[in-house]
Amino acid sequence: MLGLEHEVGAWDSVLLEPLTEDSFIANLQQRFKRDHIYTYVGNVLVSVNPYKKLALYSADLVEAYVERGPFQLPPHIYAIAGSAYRWLNDRNEDQCIIVTGESGAGKTEAARIVLQFLVLVSGNSPEVKLVKDRLVQANTLLEAFGNARTMKNDNASRFGKFLDIEFDFKGDPIGGHLTHYFLDKSRVTSLASCDRNFHVFYQLLSGADIHLLKCLKLHRNVEQYSILQTETNQPTLSEEEDKNLFVYTRNALEILGFTNNDIIDIFRVIAIVLKLGNLQYVPCNNIDGTEGCSINNDYELFEVCELLGIEHRWLQRALTSRQFEDGIMTDLNAVDAAKIRDILCKTLYSRLFTWLIHRINDIIKAKSLGKRKVLGVLDLYGFEVFEENGFEQLMINFCNEKLHQFITAATLKEEQEELVKEGLEWTKIEYFNNIVICQLLEHDSHGVLSLLEEPHVQSDAAYLSRVEQCCAGHSHCLTADATLPSHSFQIRHYAGTVTYRVHGFVEKNRDTLPKEVSRVMFRCDHPIMQALFPEGNPKRCNVKRPISESMQIQVSLNALLKSLAVRQVHYIRCLKPNELKQPRIFEIALIQHQVRYLGLIATVQMWRTGYCYRLPYIQFLCRYKMVCGNTWPRWRGSPIEGVSVLLRSLPIPSAEFTFGRTKLFVRSPRTVFELEDFRRAR
Ligand code: ADP
Ligand code: MG
Repeated sequence: MLGLEHEVGAWDSVLLEPLTEDSFIANLQQRFKRDHIYTYVGNVLVSVNPYKKLALYSADLVEAYVERGPFQLPPHIYAIAGSAYRWLNDRNEDQCIIVTGESGAGKTEAARIVLQFLVLVSGNSPEVKLVKDRLVQANTLLEAFGNARTMKNDNASRFGKFLDIEFDFKGDPIGGHLTHYFLDKSRVTSLASCDRNFHVFYQLLSGADIHLLKCLKLHRNVEQYSILQTETNQPTLSEEEDKNLFVYTRNALEILGFTNNDIIDIFRVIAIVLKLGNLQYVPCNNIDGTEGCSINNDYELFEVCELLGIEHRWLQRALTSRQFEDGIMTDLNAVDAAKIRDILCKTLYSRLFTWLIHRINDIIKAKSLGKRKVLGVLDLYGFEVFEENGFEQLMINFCNEKLHQFITAATLKEEQEELVKEGLEWTKIEYFNNIVICQLLEHDSHGVLSLLEEPHVQSDAAYLSRVEQCCAGHSHCLTADATLPSHSFQIRHYAGTVTYRVHGFVEKNRDTLPKEVSRVMFRCDHPIMQALFPEGNPKRCNVKRPISESMQIQVSLNALLKSLAVRQVHYIRCLKPNELKQPRIFEIALIQHQVRYLGLIATVQMWRTGYCYRLPYIQFLCRYKMVCGNTWPRWRGSPIEGVSVLLRSLPIPSAEFTFGRTKLFVRSPRTVFELEDFRRAR
């Protein structure tokens, strides 16, 4: 089953003859039909989501991929994970596996398979086992709190995730660190019609036993909670599934070392968000004739206050009135009060999420000091375009744009630079460089994101007019055009054109939770509220405003890309074969679109004109000198001379090799197999 001879089509697109976009896609399709979902493009792995369980993942296969070097077994995530793991150990270099693709293409699944590989391949002492268990459970926990069912994916990650795993000199995991990017918190209070809220809400309601429900003042019935309602309400996960998953989530919390009290505190926050979301306001007239509001279902607020450990009147006041700088209080009207309620729900949820990640990081942090190497797995959200696109899509697509820039630079530009550095010829390949779009978005003074930070941009209309002023005429931006819907601008992203509606941009970008609300939250008895609302601490009056969402994403993404620049990077590019989430359907047009924007053809061309494998001379000698067996000639001189003596003894055409300044370059993968076969035969 493992031999290459049973492969279907070309397992490395570099070997396709002729190479065209059509032949590339036909090859993927032919392989997909026979459940060969993985195909190489040189050292990049392309994965097509099978939407069904395949018998491709097991401890035996992990072992097989560990034993045999690259290019000797069919393309697989294990091969990519194996290379990264081997390089980490043999070359002592930090590694990163970048997984990209659209929502539903299989990124999170691929990241999970990488983690599974690393778990199976490393040691099994009790300490190492504990570290591995915790890394796996951290993933489970984050999925419960950060994933949701959407139209595109039943288990869509609504945050970007970077898991760095630290290894000791033996290659055993000793700890890790998680970073998250932009949680789509808007879904806490507003759901598209086919979507669900974050999984944990449903898991808790279906899975909690009677005692826990009572303690959290919850009803089992999803219909009781307005933040879980949509127009159509057709969740595909059954109550039974949610109930089972709750057991996993709870279990994950326990394995990660959360105490029973911690766990109840965490679920209490979930219950608070559910019940707060139910508050209804009715307009009323104040004595001074202005419009105020009162809470229609005050019993919910009473229960929220009990769960929070705060007196009802404090929270009630904070939610229905507003204090100005000069100390004057005014009552809020019903619409504004509902906005504050929603902001509080979203803030509570997203800060709980961040808090959980901090706690997990404390738990999975490597205990021993010593020298260590890291292997990171990056699973960022894919490019998004819906009928209507808002702030969230702009943030997500910005991440994609930056990541694409990084990947293009890394695969094409660096290859070019390497060949030039090695004194070899480079055949120029035309590819679209999306740096202009990155600049359009994050230009210091008039980028689409930077404009959101301008102090006088206080409303969505003001923001749009700044975009119109500063970006009009840009080749990738369309503004104030008759073809656009009102209140919109359009960006031609590398992956497609997206029309953004500016509604809610300013509020979503800035943390607009009123100070009074933070102060009240800080005063609650609930043990984690002080950590969640530090700006509410009356003793720390000069706590800075939290930085805006868009700044935060720019800062953290740039830091990430900087750290990736000094690592050896491996790529898994995931493709989605159909929008129906169905097995066996391969929609050519859909695949073609993804192949184009991922720049896969340019990558194949690069590998075809170039070299699929290269090694510094000294490493080449170490690895292959035994292929000469007893006849290994003595030679005096530099490693390059050694390599040339070695190659002359092999029955491989010399055109297959090119001598660079410091490395030997091998043209085709076939030659690499041959070398490996010779090596194994010894
Ligand atoms: P993404 O993270 O790219 O949005 P996911 O990894 O969540 O996508 O995959 C979406 C769904 O597709 C999964 O829930 C699973 O049902 C299916 N899937 C993805 N990858 C595989 C795979 N390798 N084998 C089987 N099913 C898969
Ligand atoms: Mg995902």
